Amino acid sequence: MADIWDVDDWVENAASLPVRRFYPSAVANFTGLPLEQVFTRLLHLVQGGALVLLYEIRCPEYDCARTVKTVSDKELLKFDFECDIHGEFEVTPGMIFPVFEFNPEFKKRMISKKKRKSQPTLKPALIY
Ligand SMILES: [Zn+2]
Repeated sequence: MADIWDVDDWVENAASLPVRRFYPSAVANFTGLPLEQVFTRLLHLVQGGALVLLYEIRCPEYDCARTVKTVSDKELLKFDFECDIHGEFEVTPGMIFPVFEFNPEFKKRMISKKKRKSQPTLKPALIY
């Protein structure tokens, strides 16, 4: 049975890999948890500073859906968005896709944590 901590495990592991951003659906698919629950947990990690929430703006044209820009929530209302093929468009909620980016410091930490883990551990005799 998956639980909410599996989200944290997934995030920590993914942070140690050459991945910069990910969709919440990737975590939901992997853990088997409902997307809403995963999203809530990811927002918690955003508050903790491990992740940054960004928004992909995709072209509204049917059969296009290319990502024209990835922005933070503050930038969301500032830009005119333009598809290379279909030109300018106004953003509506259906064109906004949340994507999470690793905080670079968090990523560094997870990479070095993984390296440490793969090194031989101290023998109990040396700990005492
Ligand atoms: Zn387009």
